[in-house]
Amino acid sequence: MYKIIDGKFHSAEIRKEIAARAAKYKAASGKDIGLAVVLVGEDPASQIYVRNKIKGCEEVGIKSYASYLPAESTEEQVKELVQSLVDDENINGILVQLPLPKHIDQQAVLKLIPKEKDVDGFCEENIGSLCLNKDCLPACTPNGIMKMLERENIAISGKNAVVIGRSAIVGKPMAMLLLNANATVTICHSKTENLPEICRQADILVAAIGKANFVTNDFVKQGAVVIDVGMNRDKDGKLCGDVDFQSVKDKCSYITPVPGGVGPMTITMLLYNTVVAAERTLCILNLTKNTAIICNISMKNCKNSATKS
Ligand code: NAP
Repeated sequence: MYKIIDGKFHSAEIRKEIAARAAKYKAASGKDIGLAVVLVGEDPASQIYVRNKIKGCEEVGIKSYASYLPAESTEEQVKELVQSLVDDENINGILVQLPLPKHIDQQAVLKLIPKEKDVDGFCEENIGSLCLNKDCLPACTPNGIMKMLERENIAISGKNAVVIGRSAIVGKPMAMLLLNANATVTICHSKTENLPEICRQADILVAAIGKANFVTNDFVKQGAVVIDVGMNRDKDGKLCGDVDFQSVKDKCSYITPVPGGVGPMTITMLLYNTVVAAERTLCILNLTKNTAIICNISMKNCKNSATKS
């Protein structure tokens, strides 16, 4: 019998923890945690994502600073705005909603965001630290998957994990997080030969492909944990994942549904990364039960880890 991993439930629980930590931060620092969200242009999907992120902030007591620039803004104008957020000490995390309009060099803008405020986990320094298994803010979707595995007490160390997909925002960081948790990891992609055979070796199978119902029964080993990252529309326009849930479920020990699995965790992990980023600016040493010393310390000296907390 399989167990559904309920992303909505985990997300709600983690948001409670985030709200408590945000309140503690405020009590210790006298300030709200701040998340800046930058939207350039009027892309309807991006507008919805930004709205949901702002709503998420309100829910957990993080102050959001939304900036909207018109689509015809120059790269210089966007960079100027991002730089002002980098310099603002009330802002703990910066999120630039992607994609940016085509005439703007996305990487050049993202490069301005320092590792400490890169709550999306997209900057090269964060990705490098993830690869080196050092303190970092990992990309939100794979980090959310790790949180769900941890909260479900699913063993990772020593297990075979197969990740289908090698994108910079899902597949690669997912593989690195699993590797850092001591799984034996295989990354598959569109040129992989014998894909079903490789996937059948997986104790943990993560599908991040972007193809509706692609992973079927013959990809899955009996008892595997199956994580479906995909968000697609099927031929009837219904939201579905990369995994053909009906064909696969009876072989799984655990499976994430679409919707209601990985999806609800992504924004929650953005809020989580923002709290971690804020906490890293403070070092609270409990001297006695009721006394605390707060001092500014640099991130590298702070033991609080996004991946380990
Ligand atoms: P992406 O950048 O398009 O990457 C897709 C990956 O799948 C690529 O590495 C590609 O291989 C691989 N692939 C494509 N066809 C394949 C095939 N036939 N066999 C094996 N591998 C194949 O997509 P993404 O941004 O990683 O997103 C993947 C899915 O997750 C999408 O459905 C997206 O909507 C969803 N998503 C969901 C969330 C969430 O919060 N739930 C967040 C992000 C993304 P190549 O590299 O060889 O091209």
